[in-house]
Amino acid sequence: MALSQAEHHAIRLAHAEAHAALHGLALTPLRRQVYAAIVESERPVGAYELLDALEPQRGRVPPTTVYRALDFLLAHGFVHRIESKNAYVACCEIGVPHRSQFLMCDGCGATVEIPGDELAGPLSHSAPAQGFEVHRQVIELSGLCALCARAARGIQP
Ligand SMILES: [Zn+2]
Ligand SMILES: [Zn+2]
Repeated sequence: MALSQAEHHAIRLAHAEAHAALHGLALTPLRRQVYAAIVESERPVGAYELLDALEPQRGRVPPTTVYRALDFLLAHGFVHRIESKNAYVACCEIGVPHRSQFLMCDGCGATVEIPGDELAGPLSHSAPAQGFEVHRQVIELSGLCALCARAARGIQP
């Protein structure tokens, strides 16, 4: 039986909490709420959208508070930053250090993480041969997801 979206979100949240507990990371209520809002959005979400998402539970919190929570979530691998959109997505493999590539749909905003160094590794390792020292590596591919590509071709889902 397929899980509902809400069940999927609950599982991801429980997984994040277990990871935090195991590693002694303080997933405070605010950090947990920011993480939950990112998980629930299903597409990259910006800091100001997160402020709006938090408002019903917390009232208006200062942007710096959200940025600090995001810094924590980024530093400990709970989320990734989508550089080209200045937005955040939940990581699909918390607790496994990795670099990621992202496929991003221009139609609906759906973003798929492809974890693993198979693609990123050779790129960054090729750089020193050119005398170039890599400090930051971002691989973000934009296009259309399968559903949007079908819609664009006039094919009914
Ligand atoms: Zn990840
Ligand atoms: Zn799409």
